[in-house]
Amino acid sequence: LTVGVPRETYPNERRVALTPQNVALLLKKGFDKVLVEKGAGTEADFLDSAYATAGATLVDDASAVWNGADVVLKVRGPSGAEVDKAKEGQTIISFLQPAQNKDLVERLAARKVTSFAMDLIPRISRAQVFDALSSMANIAGYKAVLEASNNFGRFLTGQVTAAGKIPPCKVLVIGAGVAGLSAIATARRLGAIVRGFDTRPAAREQVQSLGAEFIEVDIHEDGSGAGGYAKEMSKEFIEAEMKLFTEQAREVDIIITTALIPGKPAPKLITKAMIEIMKPGSVVVDLAAEAGGNCEKTVPGQLITYKDVKIIGYTDFPSRLPTQSSTLYSNNITKFLLSMAPKEKEFGIDLTDEVVRGAIVTKQGDILPPAPRPAPP
Ligand code: NAD
Repeated sequence: LTVGVPRETYPNERRVALTPQNVALLLKKGFDKVLVEKGAGTEADFLDSAYATAGATLVDDASAVWNGADVVLKVRGPSGAEVDKAKEGQTIISFLQPAQNKDLVERLAARKVTSFAMDLIPRISRAQVFDALSSMANIAGYKAVLEASNNFGRFLTGQVTAAGKIPPCKVLVIGAGVAGLSAIATARRLGAIVRGFDTRPAAREQVQSLGAEFIEVDIHEDGSGAGGYAKEMSKEFIEAEMKLFTEQAREVDIIITTALIPGKPAPKLITKAMIEIMKPGSVVVDLAAEAGGNCEKTVPGQLITYKDVKIIGYTDFPSRLPTQSSTLYSNNITKFLLSMAPKEKEFGIDLTDEVVRGAIVTKQGDILPPAPRPAPP
């Protein structure tokens, strides 16, 4: 079985799906060959020479990868041009977001390709090693704090110096899932005073365990939905949390928003009026920008300044730490591939396996209906 790794073609994407270390692992585990397009890892600091040392076969262009590989590993879902290069019976593993990319799914099925979506791997304990959504969210949360700090005119930590006393910066993190908790931990490590908010009661202890304050509203409504994900909250709850955020907006220096509800647009929680009462020089980082944004003024993909507040709506945070994100993604995808390890040169696609069934999108010419989500823990 031959594995192929083309260079990512999505604009500004700096990650690579497989690191040299995992090339060596796949070869050791019995894969015949790993084809890597020259330069595929360069933006993530994985040089062609390292792939060659690990045993990869370097090829000059993407077509050679698509022609020669049984299994193609990618970060971003394939572009139209890439689907045209795919061949019948080939397997592609990448992020796919099939619900948002129905055309792509139909094209993959039309080419009789088998595809797995890394974003559909069920978030059960056994599948944590494959969970690329969590790996990337962890990086996004970390990088969000660094971007905020780079755009903030003061230290995050407080200090007493001969030149004066410096108060610590105050950070509010809205949404304490994987990205939010990572942002809280990073801001705490940099010495900020951090507050966290979430609609799921389970988040309280996690926020507090990182040394941050958990802020709450008076309304008791459990935000936990199917599979431990968030559900949409009542109008009363959203109004109450926005009142709380208005009070916080006057006080804090940095707001990082990460609130998402699977399959729905991101809730709008930070209004133009809240930005207007923030202190000059404050920073908002909206990690929900790709899903429409938690902040009314967010422009996806951009940093804008509104009334002397910077609003960062980048949608490529993991790609901004390309070595780290490639390393973790490569570990996730390699372990997933190895869980279906080559059996007599065939893929062991076992549809009774909850993880395989959860992630598979097309099987040769068939589009498989989405698997039911696991029950809440
Ligand atoms: P996510 O990215 O879908 O959402 C981010 C956060 O936004 C969530 O914590 C959610 O509760 C919060 N949110 C939604 N609406 C909000 C609102 N109106 N106000 C404030 N916050 C709001 O979430 P995620 O990071 O993917 O994690 C979701 C859950 O899945 C968590 O409970 C996490 O612990 C769990 N999880 C489990 C596993 C596993 O067991 N393998 C792996 C990853 C995550």
